[in-house]
Parts: sequence; C-alpha cells; structure tokens
Amino acid sequence: MPPVVLAIDDSPEILQALGRALGSEFDLRVATNAKDGLALALEIKPDLILLDIMMPEVDGYETLRRLQAHSALSDIPVIFLTALHGQEDEAKCLGAGARDFVGKPFNPCVLRARVTTQIRMKQQSEELHRLARLDHLTGLVNRRVFLESADMAWRICRRDKQPLSLVMVDVDHFKAYNDTYGHQQGDACLRAVAHALRYTVHRAGDMVARLGGEEFACLLPNTSLANAEVVAERMRAAVERLALPHMASSTDQVVTVSLGVSSMIPSGESNVERLLERADRALYQAKAKGRNRVSCQASFSFPLGLMEGVRTSAA
Ligand code: GH3
Ligand code: MG
Ligand code: MG
Repeated sequence: MPPVVLAIDDSPEILQALGRALGSEFDLRVATNAKDGLALALEIKPDLILLDIMMPEVDGYETLRRLQAHSALSDIPVIFLTALHGQEDEAKCLGAGARDFVGKPFNPCVLRARVTTQIRMKQQSEELHRLARLDHLTGLVNRRVFLESADMAWRICRRDKQPLSLVMVDVDHFKAYNDTYGHQQGDACLRAVAHALRYTVHRAGDMVARLGGEEFACLLPNTSLANAEVVAERMRAAVERLALPHMASSTDQVVTVSLGVSSMIPSGESNVERLLERADRALYQAKAKGRNRVSCQASFSFPLGLMEGVRTSAA
C-alpha cells in the first residue's frame, strides 16, 4: 500500500500540481482548509502532511499547532508549502515544528524526494520504537515495558477496585539444559516456551513478557487469584505439552516451568513491587516443592491477625 499523504492548501491549482507530482507514488488526499484538514487527518492518520502556510481563517502555523496538540496526530511529520522564501521564513517554519519546507512553485522531483525522506524517517523511528519495547530473542515485550504496564494496570485496577494478578514463570533446570544441548538450542527452547506462554492468555489487557534469562511474567488485570491460578496451570501444561526433551532434568524428561502467582486489589497502602515480591516468593516455593508446579500466594486469617502464606499445587 502506498504511503498516505494529506495536503492542506486553499489553492486548487496547487492541489492539482501536487496530484501530478505525487499521485503515482503516494495515496494523496486533500483538504482546502484547516478545519477539514484536521478532521481528515484524524480519520485517515496520514504518513505525512503537506501544509500551506497562508490560508484564510486558520493559517498553517496555527494548523500545525493544533496538530501538535493532538496526541493522535503529533507524530505525523509536516512539510510546509510556502511562497515565502526568506531565511527568516525558513527559520520560522522549522522553529514552529515543521520537519521541512518546500517553496512554491515547487519542483516535482524535489518535492517527491523530500516527502520520501520524511516518510522513511518516520518508518525508521517507528521501527526503533517497536524494537526498544521488544525482547529480540522471543518477540515478547521486555522487562521495561512490562514494569511500566504493571504500574499502569495497578493504577487502573485501583481506580476500578478490581484484582490485579501476576504470574512469574521460570524454566526448570535451564542451566543444565544449556550445558547439555548448547546455548543455541537453549535459545530455541526459550522461543518455544515464550510462544506457548503467549498463546495461553487471550483477554485484552493480559500481557506476557520476558523479564530476562529464562524468566517470564504474565500480567492479568481484573483477574482473581483463583482465575490467575487456572491461567498459570494452563501455562504449565502448555510448556509440558511442548515435550522438549530435557535429559539432564531431575524433575521430568521434558522441559518444564515453575510458576508463582500473586493477586491483590490495589490500595494506597501497597504497591506493585509488593505484588511482584509475592509472586517471586510463590515461585520460590514452587521450586522448593519440586518444580513443574504452580504456587499461589495466599492470605490466611488467624486469630492474631492476617498472615500471608503460600499454597502449592503439584502437577
Ligand atoms: P532452576 O530450576 O532452579 O530455575 O535452575 P536453573 O538452572 O533454571 O536456574 P539458573 O538461574 O541457575 O540458570 C539459568 C540459566 O539460564 C543460566 C543461563 O546460562 C541461562 N540463560 C540465561 N539467559 C539465556 C539466554 O538468553 N539464552 C540461553 N540459551 N540461556 C540463557
Ligand atoms: Mg532463573
Ligand atoms: Mg530456572
């Protein structure tokens, strides 16, 4: 699909000339005033906007300001089309936040080159942004994104008085796996485990991340401890079903994972770090109790007050 370019210019002649210059390589859409241009931009989210400076009512500078003020539009590169040619005018264009400017009358080749450059830069920046969020080995989101999302989910669940659950996952005897099958096979194993974990959760808002090494985590907003335990058990079973041979494991003949589950209804007295700690502690229990199992953080009521404990269910 060709990149979408939106031109906002009150001159029909200019719009026609733009059509001749760009029409074969780009999907050109046009608007003849700022109001229509902004509405169209919101609707089609173009890859680039060509913006006339001198327009009746709302001029190009003000239109650019409105584009920048809109979170859905502020990343779209804008090239000014300007009949003004002085260096001061150029400085003003760039100072206003335009990526580039093209003088009128324009040379079609120069215009095409500048449009292409800006669109390529936008695509590269989106790709970098995507890569910065993802773990390169598994394609899952990375630790940083996971922690940011956990923080956000904590605040949303706190507002909605809904439980937020967390599952920590760690591959069993993975050092021995690497030692036996080699690092490359180890990487392939992590990819397979990541894939199995990812396809066990389905609800919007659920997130599976690779925290690092052979550790994964799953965030389950609006999910009770009991339901999170069900999800964790499905994850455990999904990894077991991969049936990846692991002859050095003292737990099983195939690759297995241990999982720790925690859940809280967020409140002001606690924080998301506490939720992570509890899941970590539950995971530790799952390891201690023999691995390839799910452990849940649990709260028990005792006469002397509330005590925390861990409950483990074996495979
Ligand atoms: P446990 O059952 O108690 O979890 O034991 P373990 O051997 O899985 O745990 P440990 O933390 O001792 O070892 C983790 C190993 O994971 C050590 C490290 O070499 C390996 N590892 C970490 N990151 C990667 C990776 O990206 N690729 C591969 N192939 N191995 C990794
Ligand atoms: Mg580990
Ligand atoms: Mg491990």
